[in-house]
Amino acid sequence: MNMTDSAGMGDDAAMQAKIKSKLDDGRTCMKERVYTTALTLLMKAASMCPCSPASHGKDKSCNILQCAAAVKDADPDALYHVARGPCSCGFQWPSCTRPLHIQAVDTLAECLERARHYLAAFSTALGLVRLDPASAVGYCRVAKILRYLLRCHQNQDLTVDRSLAVIIRDAGLASANELRGLITLFIKSGLHNTQKYRHSPDDKYHIILRKMAHNLNMAESLRDPIQKLPAELLGIIFSYLDTADLCRCTRVNKLWKQVVLSDKMLWRHIRMRRPKNPGRYFANFLKSHTEARSLVIDDMCDFSLTETKLRSIALFLPRLERLCLSSSKSFLDMRFPTKPLGTPGINLKMLTQLSLISIPEHNFQTVRQLIHLTHASLEVLDIKPITHDIEEAFMLDPMPKLKRLRIIGNSTNSNTRIIEMQAIANGSPNLEHLHLDGLYIVWSPHLDWNQRKRWPALRSLYLGERMDGQSTWVHIDGGTGQRVGPIPLNSSMQSIEILYANDRFIEDILFVPQAERSSPQVFIINEMSPPSEWIDYPNLEVFRCRTSIRPSLLQRVIGSAAKNGTLRVLEVTATSNGVLAFPHCVGDIRDPADELAFAASEHVHTLGMYQFNWAAADNHYSVFNGQPFLDLLNLFPNAETIAAYPGKHANTAPFLMKLIAHPQTKAVYQENLEGVEWDEACKLAKKNGVQLYHQPKFRPGGWPLVE
Ligand SMILES: [Zn+2]
Ligand SMILES: [Zn+2]
Repeated sequence: MNMTDSAGMGDDAAMQAKIKSKLDDGRTCMKERVYTTALTLLMKAASMCPCSPASHGKDKSCNILQCAAAVKDADPDALYHVARGPCSCGFQWPSCTRPLHIQAVDTLAECLERARHYLAAFSTALGLVRLDPASAVGYCRVAKILRYLLRCHQNQDLTVDRSLAVIIRDAGLASANELRGLITLFIKSGLHNTQKYRHSPDDKYHIILRKMAHNLNMAESLRDPIQKLPAELLGIIFSYLDTADLCRCTRVNKLWKQVVLSDKMLWRHIRMRRPKNPGRYFANFLKSHTEARSLVIDDMCDFSLTETKLRSIALFLPRLERLCLSSSKSFLDMRFPTKPLGTPGINLKMLTQLSLISIPEHNFQTVRQLIHLTHASLEVLDIKPITHDIEEAFMLDPMPKLKRLRIIGNSTNSNTRIIEMQAIANGSPNLEHLHLDGLYIVWSPHLDWNQRKRWPALRSLYLGERMDGQSTWVHIDGGTGQRVGPIPLNSSMQSIEILYANDRFIEDILFVPQAERSSPQVFIINEMSPPSEWIDYPNLEVFRCRTSIRPSLLQRVIGSAAKNGTLRVLEVTATSNGVLAFPHCVGDIRDPADELAFAASEHVHTLGMYQFNWAAADNHYSVFNGQPFLDLLNLFPNAETIAAYPGKHANTAPFLMKLIAHPQTKAVYQENLEGVEWDEACKLAKKNGVQLYHQPKFRPGGWPLVE
């Protein structure tokens, strides 16, 4: 460390100001090319430093010779030691880390170069290195001067050639062609000293020096972060990489491999998406990552997931808690696993989440085997699309710990699967969250209705829009009509999302008391003829429904939750979609601000409305009026996220623009804006800081498949 390091702290501020003013004057003169005056001023500025620097004599050879010999030395610290010691002529070079002193000498060297005193400039630059060998400034100046001379050499410039001749002689070079090598040596030495002896943070000269090294293709310009950064920081950086990138990192060199593999935290969540990565070494790979808690394979086909590999997962990852397998194509070689993938209670016994996304239907054996292995510990089960015989899996391998279940069927109505709910319910008695989409759901015709509370812990229900095709009746077992979708709700429900628009469906779920569901009769439900029991939902936080419910009945569903402030998300439908097979619970909202006054709440943050047009009694598409919805916002002063889906009407854009410009709004979901209107709405949204989404049919819901 430098002796004068601490002296800088006590510098007289007045003296610093004086040096600064001399330095500035010198720079001004230099700019005006009055070099003689500039040099005098700059020398004065340098000599005013409190370190009281002495001046080397006019002969520069001893300095050049000694420094050039040092950079050519095999010892990387040679130049540093030379800088710390006396000149070969005996002169004691000044040593100082004060920025103003360094600036003054650097400007002096620059000025000497401009005044074409190249030798003196070079010697002064070397003096700058001696002043503080840990500063990058000197090396930059040395390299700059040498580079200039190299460029101007053979330009018939006598001054340049004469200076060069001396440098070549003193540096012990054979010719000017070797000058480039000398520049490289100085930069190399500079990179070494500025790193090894650093006492202050990197400045712009460090960057310049590294850039010079880079331009010269020097190996030293490549800095290996793994050698510089502490393990904690590397861990954070590597945690942003996915498994494929981490695998790539292990192939950089031994050190990288050691660092990346030794950080076990990095391998707790393994996600693989690259084809066949890590290839045929999969079993070995798994064996060295037995601490993995979660494994996600984004594309089983590209990954070539085989029965053998699946068995390796079960065998070598004993701590696995989450397994997500997805596929984009229909290909797998494990149509019928020939032998068990593992032993229940031994392999994958800690697995709590199983997500099987887009597994081809013919691989149902794989699904069955995975459920068989993990059914006792499973808490989350995701299946999309539903595979063959899922009911049997629930019957044979009950899941007592299952809390979340998502089953998504085929998106095409032509072969929508009928799913028998009784088996599912029996196999998941403690279910809390149920998410169904793209299915017909039925309860077996001979079910026991006395056993009402099939899911006593159920808290949230999501029914997607593809819950059935055309019919609200499902004919099974010889054509007896069964009610389509009774899902036993209970008074602890926190979230009800019914995004399949169907009058019968909503009636079955919300208004037909369970005791009455055993009969295929038609129930008349209205205020005059209420069902034998009403279920109240005081804990309801989310209510979304794409069927229009008569406001007086809607009050039965959401009234208490709105009143006690639990309700957060409210999305309702204003008019029936026209299928009025059982219109008893269905009714239009004609004056929302009045009819929904019972729901007024300052706790609702998301408000939505579907199928509305208050322009005409017949809801005709050619004219549109959405104003009553805007008026409704007054009842929900903190609703920021708005879902506005009036349906296809003419000229809905002005209404949506008003909504975007509304002071309350922070996010808008809609499906109407197109073309120029969309562009204008985007501009307005940007101006008002509103997130605008184009989301067909309805605002999405549920929980993410694989995050
Ligand atoms: Zn000084
Ligand atoms: Zn000397």
